[in-house]
Amino acid sequence: MQKTLPILENIDTARLPQAECDGPASVYLETYGCQMNVSDSEIVASVLRDAGYGLTHDPLQADVVLLNTCAIRENAEQRVRRRLEFFRARKRKHNTNLKIGVLGCMAERLRHKLLEQERLVDIVVGPDAYRDLPRLLHQVDETGQSAVNVQLSREETYADIAPVRYDSNGISAFVSIMRGCDNMCAFCVVPFTRGRERSRNAGTIVRECQGLFDAGYREVTLLGQNVNSYRDGPVDFATLLYRVSLLSPELRIRYSTSHPKDCSEALLEVHRDRPNVCNFIHLPVQHGNSGVLQRMRRGYSADEYRALIEHTRRICPGVSLSTDIIAGFCGETEAEHQDTLALLADIRYDHAFMFMYSERPDTYAARKYTDDVPKEVKKRRLSEIITLQKSISHENNQKEIGRIHTVLVEGASKRSKAQLCGRTDTNKMVIFDRGTLSAGMYVKVRITGCTSATLFGEVLAG
Ligand code: SF4
Repeated sequence: MQKTLPILENIDTARLPQAECDGPASVYLETYGCQMNVSDSEIVASVLRDAGYGLTHDPLQADVVLLNTCAIRENAEQRVRRRLEFFRARKRKHNTNLKIGVLGCMAERLRHKLLEQERLVDIVVGPDAYRDLPRLLHQVDETGQSAVNVQLSREETYADIAPVRYDSNGISAFVSIMRGCDNMCAFCVVPFTRGRERSRNAGTIVRECQGLFDAGYREVTLLGQNVNSYRDGPVDFATLLYRVSLLSPELRIRYSTSHPKDCSEALLEVHRDRPNVCNFIHLPVQHGNSGVLQRMRRGYSADEYRALIEHTRRICPGVSLSTDIIAGFCGETEAEHQDTLALLADIRYDHAFMFMYSERPDTYAARKYTDDVPKEVKKRRLSEIITLQKSISHENNQKEIGRIHTVLVEGASKRSKAQLCGRTDTNKMVIFDRGTLSAGMYVKVRITGCTSATLFGEVLAG
């Protein structure tokens, strides 16, 4: 879960649910980081709307600006600091009453320090304290003093809060099913910023998915930092996935992010037996060498991971796989780096999220190891990984040419309004002519061309 960019640019506005609403004060929400943060921003929008606040997509019209942040790497935090500069200048020059708030993982990681480091920030709120937002905003109004709540919880799942999907395309929705992570991987800040694992009540998840289907959504992505370790009493992740798949054959189901240790036989069988559970699994490996995986405290060896992939492909033929890779972890030798390249060449993922190791304070790695791989070496190794994976993704996509896929139409293509985009069951983005089609339809598409990231196709009649 590691993409970091403002999210508002690429939506098909025609399908935007009319979530903009008026209120005594209007809030502009900007989301950085992973899908979990997108889902959290929908919870924040709901809490504030219920407290009478309006929502606006225009930061220049807002009375309150909230940045929902990511702390996964240093550059993610630097991006937020630059954005705060912009809003600080706006506050000084145009709107001294503007309230600026920092939410999410950076707020939780830095806590009160953020107020000292970042002048003119009014509120700092951690991922488990969003119910408290109206009170904190009121406190700032009343006292003019800044307000903070970064209390982590062992119970909070926001299960009773109906997300306001103000940024959704109306077809595909995120459903957060659990929060926190107990894995403590050596490089990762998430357990410190999101706390211990807790799972939502299964019934509330199934009801939310039913509600989404009734509202016209045709795809749900079940979210959790370690989604396949979900458990609500006797209901484990495989059982939950099975129950959601029974709602309608027209509802596609995806999930993210998994940990290899929780990729159970039962889960793979649900993939095999339930056609609307998408034949796609994002299974982060992080590295190709067992010694490095041990130092990363990932809990599996490279051979065990390779065996899991072989087994997954046996149970789910044609399954599309993607992963996460870190280059340049503490102490990584050239030979260990070569093992990552060898693993990518052997497994041939359709896609991968690839990053340089970025030391995060308080993590096991920061406390026990030295970040000793020079930046230039990290950069060179990362570029070798990206070059190799890009050629593999392209070769895999070239094999798609001539194949026919069932595509769920999501909306306008970024390339041209005359074209639409949608994804295959295997999570590949396809571009095709709009014709008389519209979002939410399932269409048969014959693949006619590709790049390493995108497929192109022609819609088949009937
Ligand atoms: S599984 Fe590891 S990498 Fe993923 S969120 Fe948990 S601690 Fe971080």
